[in-house]
Amino acid sequence: MAKRVVFLGAGTGGTMAANRLAREMSEEIQRNELEIILLGDTDQHVYQPGFLYIALDREIPEKYKRSQQQLIVPGVQFVVDSVKEIQAQQRTIITKKGHRIPYDFLVVATGSVPNLDSIPGFRQDANSFYTLSEALRLREKIQSFKGGKVVMIVGVPHKCPVAPLEFMFMLDDSLRQAGKREDAELVYTYPIGRLHSLVPVAEWAEKEFEKRNIKGETFFNVESIDPANHTVFTLEGEEVKYDLLIGIPPHEGAPVIRNSGLGDAEGWLPTDPKTLKLKGNEHIYVLGDATDLPISKAGSTAHYQSEVVARNLIHELRGEPPTTLYNGKVFCFIESGLEEATHITFDYRTPPQPAKATTMTHMFKLAFNEMYWLSLRGLI
Ligand SMILES: Cc1cc2nc3c(=O)[nH]c(=O)nc-3n(C[C@H](O)[C@H](O)[C@H](O)COP(=O)(O)OP(=O)(O)OC[C@H]3O[C@@H](n4cnc5c(N)ncnc54)[C@H](O)[C@@H]3O)c2cc1C
Repeated sequence: MAKRVVFLGAGTGGTMAANRLAREMSEEIQRNELEIILLGDTDQHVYQPGFLYIALDREIPEKYKRSQQQLIVPGVQFVVDSVKEIQAQQRTIITKKGHRIPYDFLVVATGSVPNLDSIPGFRQDANSFYTLSEALRLREKIQSFKGGKVVMIVGVPHKCPVAPLEFMFMLDDSLRQAGKREDAELVYTYPIGRLHSLVPVAEWAEKEFEKRNIKGETFFNVESIDPANHTVFTLEGEEVKYDLLIGIPPHEGAPVIRNSGLGDAEGWLPTDPKTLKLKGNEHIYVLGDATDLPISKAGSTAHYQSEVVARNLIHELRGEPPTTLYNGKVFCFIESGLEEATHITFDYRTPPQPAKATTMTHMFKLAFNEMYWLSLRGLI
């Protein structure tokens, strides 16, 4: 009987890992010894880093959307259905359409979800760019912005930890290009005692903020927002008025994790940092934003992890021990304006060090935005 591997979540990590496995085990699939199912709750794939460019009116949404079916390689069966429950003891998943799908191995890649209700008033008046609809709404607000105080609030954890900084730099340049910068006060806030969780990035950002006259406020934990009076209240006792509020709320794991009795209070799955197996379960791997690992929730994290998971699945399906270990590698481009970018790379043992920002790095970032679709197929 064919062995079955189910990938739950057809975003960055799930798609890459399923495609990699199918490419490497095409012969087993052809001999009907292996079945690969990729389950996603939508037939569209959206490239989330594109939201930055959409919100700032640099690109149109269509550029960052593809049909999911076109992104998978032969050998992967893509099914559009939402998973209601993972029954880990029975090695079965239950879908919303009522299917029971048993598996030999399950790869959970269900991502993370911004919790817009975690801060009272957030939904009413804060503008995010973490979904397509929010990015489009923020685009309108920025276009009609007549000047005043722009405040960015950030809740942790959230995916792409550098995105709020990138947005601030790009917004600064956009306002300068539009001749509106002199009428705007830009304020960036962060919950801990520096501008970013990674010390070298915080130190780099502080200097960039100084050059651009962006004000940084630290120890800024938002308690609530008063939409009627355009005021943010913090746990530290501050009251800050704004004209335009941009915000990223704290994220949580996908609801299916908690609905299945798995994961911690925020829905993150306890994951072995090296093997990427769900702790205490030999049949479930976890990758991407869904893990509880103390590293950046980023597409590149999911990318490197998908290589490890696919490799170990190949070993296990061939009856060998899984020997490939994840070393915590993350790589991030950081747009430091509309025409320059820097990059960082780090792992469990090596801290990041932002390189000098250059136009060339920005061009690489734009090039990667195009190449993302190839990386999903496991080609780069
Ligand atoms: C504005 C923005 C900018 C970013 N910029 C960068 C960047 O420059 N570089 C970078 O590396 N990363 C960036 N990221 C982060 C990156 O997009 C994510 O970290 C990455 O997509 C995580 O991959 P994933 O596979 O874990 O989750 P996702 O790609 O989010 O995929 C999860 C999938 O699982 C599906 N799913 C969830 N629950 C179920 C269910 N019950 N049943 C079926 N399907 C389900 C979801 O619908 C989704 O399709 C950015 C993100 C944003 C929002």
